[in-house]
Amino acid sequence: MLNEKIALVTGGGSGIGRATSLKMAGYGAKLVIVDFNEAGGQETVRLIQEQGGEAIFVQADVSKAEDVQRYVQAAVDAFGRIDVFFNNAGIVQKFNRLADIEESEFDRIMSVNVRGVFLGMKYVLKVMEQQGGGSIVNTASTAGVKSEHSASAYSASKHAVVGLTKGAAIEYVKKGIRVNAICPGGVETALTKGVEAAFLSGGYVPEEVGNMRMGRYAQPDELAEVACFLASDRASYMTGSIVVADGGLTL
Ligand code: ADP
Repeated sequence: MLNEKIALVTGGGSGIGRATSLKMAGYGAKLVIVDFNEAGGQETVRLIQEQGGEAIFVQADVSKAEDVQRYVQAAVDAFGRIDVFFNNAGIVQKFNRLADIEESEFDRIMSVNVRGVFLGMKYVLKVMEQQGGGSIVNTASTAGVKSEHSASAYSASKHAVVGLTKGAAIEYVKKGIRVNAICPGGVETALTKGVEAAFLSGGYVPEEVGNMRMGRYAQPDELAEVACFLASDRASYMTGSIVVADGGLTL
């Protein structure tokens, strides 16, 4: 599905980013893994190599322009092009009502989730335009199409990712570049496992988990599959699509 494609993945050191990197490699892509977390990123590279794939790691902070230029250049230096860009690194906010969100916390969320996604597209689009095409998948969230209690800053940041996705899709469609976004709901981590267990045993569950009609969080792999499809030529008629994959959370 991604045979011989060069794929650049930010936030590839854990979660959805790692699962998608492994799956892209499995589908035949060569990977450039970007993450702030060096140990996580290197581990993803090791896992890809273990399954017979090819990958390199670049340590970078996606919110810093010089780091973004560096990881884009590293991809071009290593492989000569960027066919797929999974613009995925992101952070969550400390849950708080709006008036209680620290200004520094607001800036931190915006800097990674909005500025980071903007900068990634800004520099990757130049490369894709020059080579005559490409596919970008941004990680938004169900919080990009609705909000949850105590997460207004995060929600604002993910709504911005949706806006950037649609804007870039319009501007680059004639250049052969497709830009789409995935909107995960809850994804299983060590932390959320406990909440899921409570849901299944009929115990107390926060509203958002109760709203997950499937009654469980997603495995990172289930989001990875969606990201790989959008990244691939199989999604040739899709651009500007905001693809919700949330187990029924937003229903
Ligand atoms: P998810 O479960 O949604 O995939 P994770 O927190 O597991 O979320 O993954 C997000 C990844 O993004 C982590 O590997 C994290 O290190 C990375 N990341 C977060 N902020 C930055 C940043 N500023 N620059 C680069 N990578 C980042």
